[in-house]
Order: sequence, then structure tokens, then C-alpha cells
Amino acid sequence: MKKIGVLTSGGDAPGMNAAVRAVVRSAIYRGVEVYGVYHGYKGLITGNIKKLEVSDVGDIVQRGGTILYTARCEEFKTEEGRAIAIEQLKKFGIEGLVVIGGDGSFMGGVKLTQLGFPTIGIPGTIDNDIPETDFTLGFDTALNTIIDAIDKIRDTATSHERRFIIEVMGRGCGDLAMWAGLADGAESILIPETKEDLDTIVERLNRGIERGKKHNIIIVAEGVGSADEVAKAIKAKANMDTRVTVLGHVQRGGAPTAFDRVLAARMGNKAVELLLEGEKGKMIAIQNNKIVAHDILDLLTKKHEFNKNLYQLAKELSI
Ligand code: ADP
Repeated sequence: MKKIGVLTSGGDAPGMNAAVRAVVRSAIYRGVEVYGVYHGYKGLITGNIKKLEVSDVGDIVQRGGTILYTARCEEFKTEEGRAIAIEQLKKFGIEGLVVIGGDGSFMGGVKLTQLGFPTIGIPGTIDNDIPETDFTLGFDTALNTIIDAIDKIRDTATSHERRFIIEVMGRGCGDLAMWAGLADGAESILIPETKEDLDTIVERLNRGIERGKKHNIIIVAEGVGSADEVAKAIKAKANMDTRVTVLGHVQRGGAPTAFDRVLAARMGNKAVELLLEGEKGKMIAIQNNKIVAHDILDLLTKKHEFNKNLYQLAKELSI
């Protein structure tokens, strides 16, 4: 293999740039040319593809977002769209592709592999919702952004002795909420994996108030519903006033943490190694601090494992 491509697809995540850099430099180090595909699968269809040199990925390791841009592309979900994509790849002489994105993007990669075009995936999403990997790229950065915001909210919550409900990202996976709750000592953590009834939430708030706690924080993953709904339910149930903060897209941006940068370096490097070894249809993962690879088709039938112990620990520590 003498030429490979790299693209970022789906939701962006801090650390994607560091992964692009790692792919480009690991390949060039091994005498392989790298082509950047812009705007995800859309760029594959329109031929928005450019050769990347070592210096093209300089000064990006610390930047959030993705210099290759990302997009969602319905046309790539059709056979016709994918046939055009394969033609474009052939035109540029590209023989393998690294896809940095979430499970939707991996599905696209698998379809290319099935058409005889080798593809390797790198999990890049802040939600940490990919199975068989302890962490996805961007999760640690987003988590630290959340913690920073909650610490600030806590200052004002304490000063005014207020209860805050904070909504964080995470549709199907509550890891951001759970880890943030554990790291910040939240009273309650509401996540899609498990149900917390309103009586318990109110009871925990009251317990805090009784022992003179000056601030109370409830974290809600967006997959459970909106923080506004939770605030209304608490008001209706216990006539308690709360303030709502929806963190929104600030969670997606920012300079990647050291953890995400190092993870990106290791995953990008492994993706290139596997492609050059003739592997395809695999996703790079980190498990027990080892960089490994899993068959994407096997992953698509699984869900990211909910860490019950961590959730229980958060509950125990916020008595
Ligand atoms: P994510 O990768 O973050 O899960 P999406 O689910 O939006 O994001 O997927 C990103 C892109 O991957 C889609 O816009 C589409 O181009 C491609 N894709 C997703 N699912 C498929 C599929 N089943 N077949 C082919 N391409 C797909």
C-alpha cells in the first residue's frame, strides 16, 4: 500500500486533529503518501481530496474541531453514492482509508470494506458511546470542560445557596454525566442507562439541605430528557426552586487534553500499521491501557458497557 486517505465524519470531537496528524505522520514515516478527504464522506463523493505533507498537520495537535471538516452525507448511504466514492478513491490511487468518527461513520467504512476497499475506524466522539473501547477520542476533553463549568456554577450556587440542574450531552450513553457527577460530587446523576425516581432525587436534595449543604448539583444526560423538565418535576413535587444550565455545544470544543492527544497519537499510529499489514473493517480501541482492534461488524451488534460500579460509587460518595 503506497497511498492512504483519512477523513473525519459525524459529530466532531477534540482530538480528531491530533489523530489526523498521527495518521499522516505515521504513514509518511513508513514511506506512504496520505490524502486528506474534506467534509467526511461528502468529500469522497465530490473528490474534495488533497495530498497532505508533514507540515500540513503542523500546529494542529492542540486544536479542537477538525481541519478536515466533518459532515453528514445521505448520498453515501446509497449504492450509487458509494460507487462514485470508490471511483474517486481509484482516481487518486488511494488504496486504504482511515475513518475517524462514530458508529454511523464506521458503518459507512464497513460498506467500503465490503466493496473491496480496506477501511479502519478510529472512535472519535465525546459521548464515549462506542462498545469495546474504554474511551473514545474527545471524551476526556469534554468531561474536563463540563467539570470546569460545574465548578464555576458551584461557586455561584454556594453564594446564593441554590440548587442547580445541569444538562450535559449524551443521548444513549450517560458516561459524560456519570463521570462528571462522580468528579464533581453531584447529588443526583440522571442517565439513560438507569432510572432514578423523583422521590429519590427530592429526598437526596432535602438530605443535603438538612445537613447545611450550601449548594446542590443535579446532572442530567440529554438522553433522559431536558433539565427544564426535571426542574418542573421537582417544583411540582416538592415546591423547590432550581436553576437550569444547559451546557450545549461548548462541550464539543476546546483544546484536547493530554490524555486525548496521547490517545489520538496511539490510535492514529495503530490504524496506519493495521492498514499496511493488510487489515480491514476494524476499529481501533483502548482496553486496559492497551491499543487493540475489533471487527466493526461485531461491534455494531453491541452497546457500550454501562459501568455500574462507577455509578454506585458516585451514589455512595454523595450521601
Ligand atoms: P457518527 O459517525 O457520529 O455516528 P452519523 O451516524 O451521522 O455520525 O454518520 C456519519 C455519516 O456516516 C453519515 O452521514 C453517512 O454519510 C455515513 N453513514 C452512516 N450510516 C451509514 C450506513 N448505514 N451506510 C453507509 N454510510 C453510513
